[in-house]
Amino acid sequence: MHITVIGSGYVGTTVSACFAEMGHTVTAIDIDQGIVDTLNGGEAPISEPGLDELIAKHAGGRFTASTSYDAVPETDITFLAIGTPSNADGSIDLAGLEAAAKATGEALAQKSNRHLVVIKSTVTPPSIRAVLEPAIRSGSNDNAAIDIATNPEFLREGTAVSDFQDPDKLVVGTDSEWATDRLTAVYEPLLDSEMPIVDTDPETAAMIKYANNAFLASKISLINDLGNICKEFGLDAYEVADAIGLDDRISEQFLRSGVGWGGSCFPKDVNALIAAAKSEGYEPAMLEAAVTVNDRQPDRLVAALQEHVDLEGARIAVLGLAFKPDTDDIRNSRAIPVIDALQAGGADIVAYDPVAAEQMADRFPDIEYAETAAEALTGADGVAVVTDWEEFSELDEEFNTMSTPVVVDGRRCIERRDGIVYEGLTW
Ligand code: NAD
Repeated sequence: MHITVIGSGYVGTTVSACFAEMGHTVTAIDIDQGIVDTLNGGEAPISEPGLDELIAKHAGGRFTASTSYDAVPETDITFLAIGTPSNADGSIDLAGLEAAAKATGEALAQKSNRHLVVIKSTVTPPSIRAVLEPAIRSGSNDNAAIDIATNPEFLREGTAVSDFQDPDKLVVGTDSEWATDRLTAVYEPLLDSEMPIVDTDPETAAMIKYANNAFLASKISLINDLGNICKEFGLDAYEVADAIGLDDRISEQFLRSGVGWGGSCFPKDVNALIAAAKSEGYEPAMLEAAVTVNDRQPDRLVAALQEHVDLEGARIAVLGLAFKPDTDDIRNSRAIPVIDALQAGGADIVAYDPVAAEQMADRFPDIEYAETAAEALTGADGVAVVTDWEEFSELDEEFNTMSTPVVVDGRRCIERRDGIVYEGLTW
């Protein structure tokens, strides 16, 4: 099949590269000329394990990138993978996606045979008929020739390629059998008898994505709440979590309490769902509590450090800036409120991350960035560990170079040892 993927960010680039690997011909469209040039040069514009290899393999062959929508009518199906960030009040900001939807409709105006436009972006159910479908159709001449579907994406940054290639489920939200068949056909190379296909309408498919993220974010907030209580009682939260995880109804996954959830999805999606529910007159009390607990965790980490170090004038190392390991994405990373709180207390920050320092330098141009974790620790009066990069668990002698070896560990990835003062959020 010949596929257009509009938006070449974390999702669009991964999806495009994997579609090419599956044997499809892919045209990736992005408004950012730099991203397009990087892709056509055979490189990924983001840091994601395995992605560079796929782009290098298919660029100039089955995979091409462009800033122009001209290729859209020549393709069989178009996926919209544009960001859907938050407005100031937490509601979904559809401006970028709406513009791309309109441009797609305009590009399809000349096309005579039926085309399927698939919203891969995470969108609130009411926005499909209220905003996105009108935007797509406004540019087009022949409304009947365009079918609209949703196909939410469940990949996780850091394992995006393998998640996409081996998903737990395929959710197709369509209005017609033709659209279901066409959308499912794209995924044919990934399908086997084991993989559940959820065949539903566009709104339900969109809600499944929000429910998925809301559930996972709430699960983490609940275990964080329980972890905080364990710490107050002087108990090891992980011992408790491991035991409850043995219950099949709970499962062991997402029970690692710590400094909280961040990233480009959980915060904005939970807030968008809260805002959308409220605009229907419903108060989602559980989801609001999940956000409240999450917002408190960075302050708890900094408070744990303050038990041992006076922040005023102190040199504090921050290990980890990406919102999770194996990605350079800093959107809503817990490092941001941690650094804010440390600076508010008067600390001088020296930060280290294996790949995300450049991105964070735009947000915090006034802090020092170290080349290695060892460099960050040298002479520090305390360290806050925010991201559980594998290499941090291997640090050992490096703690001896600190002025005062106080370690507060937001991810429980550093081993407690003699000679350092260790504080976690969970014991
Ligand atoms: P992103 O911000 O990384 O990428 C969006 C891309 O769209 C950017 O490269 C931008 O230049 C481009 N763009 C913006 N307007 C455009 C236009 N009019 N025409 C062409 N290109 C345009 O976003 P993302 O993280 O890839 O997320 C995309 C969607 O997928 C969001 O709705 C998100 O919620 C959802 N999602 C993200 C993830 C994730 O882990 N990042 C996982 C599942 C779902």
